[in-house]
Amino acid sequence: MANQISSSNVRVVLRVRPFLPSELNPPSDQKTSQIPCVSILDQHSSGEVTVRLKDQFSSRNECYKLDSFFGQEGRVGNIFEQELSVLIPGLFQGINATVFAYGATGSGKTYTMQGTESEPGLIPLAMSAIFSMCENTKYSVQISYYEVYLDRCYDLLEPKAKEVMALDDKDGKVQLKGLFWASVKSMADFSQIYTTGLQRRKVAHTGLNDVSSRSHAVLSVVVSDGSSKGKLNLIDLAGNEDNRRTQNEGIRMQESAKINESLFALSNVISALNNRRPYIPYRESKLTRILQDSLGGASRALMVACLNPMSYQEAIHTVSLAARSR
Ligand code: ADP
Ligand code: MG
Repeated sequence: MANQISSSNVRVVLRVRPFLPSELNPPSDQKTSQIPCVSILDQHSSGEVTVRLKDQFSSRNECYKLDSFFGQEGRVGNIFEQELSVLIPGLFQGINATVFAYGATGSGKTYTMQGTESEPGLIPLAMSAIFSMCENTKYSVQISYYEVYLDRCYDLLEPKAKEVMALDDKDGKVQLKGLFWASVKSMADFSQIYTTGLQRRKVAHTGLNDVSSRSHAVLSVVVSDGSSKGKLNLIDLAGNEDNRRTQNEGIRMQESAKINESLFALSNVISALNNRRPYIPYRESKLTRILQDSLGGASRALMVACLNPMSYQEAIHTVSLAARSR
């Protein structure tokens, strides 16, 4: 069932991942419950849902309204069919689109975007739909893959993840100068190049622990027939965290501040777009400046807020920001 194009430019949906085996069988001294901290309270005729977040260990709860909800039994294929597949034909008419996975570390962002061999994520599903649409046409596909870490951009398709500069062009838009674009003709081509980029992402920042969950990874896909061109960004955002709860210091503190600043800026941009405000605050962060050509105007976007079913605190943090973006 494909949903109709909604009146807002950016749809915000929620996904809660299943319990992991370690969470179902925790050490006996750990207090736990096997009820996820989020559930549907109400399904509206408009298609919107109200979800209720509830703390397992107290009576605390809060409700939020979102565009759609994918529960623990939901497969990433459902998200693709209902939310992403409708954006793909638009690329061939020059309508850009952006998909974000957003949420705390461990909430299932990478699983949702990348997936596994047995359950491919939104990235391989989108690529394969794009290749199908290109068959027997003049369209060709190019990809770039980079990460944004501490407001700097690193090209993951270049050896040593070379830094690329974000420069203003004469229209006031930002261009990533010298970013490498690879032509890909098939899923096999794509997988090979993308896998190299993933490897590079793991080793790019030697000495720094776990940068990959603390940077935004952007896969950009351009389809073009020479005269018309459409771009799809598929983004695994850095894990958002609640600075009041983590005791970050030094580089961690700096990372954390940048991450929160860019996620907040993104939320402000999405909210301004959805509320049709005249001024869209793209310039508040590097991330939103880079994405300006595919957020707003005729472009469409999808934010998948991911939740760990065990953490009420994280859920509140994630869902309140997601809900205020609408
Ligand atoms: P994040 O990228 O947000 O830090 P991950 O995608 O790495 O989180 O997911 C955290 C863990 O949960 C991983 O072990 C992953 O395999 C598992 N996981 C996440 N989503 C699902 C899902 N829908 N089904 C099964 N396992 C999942
Ligand atoms: Mg991840």
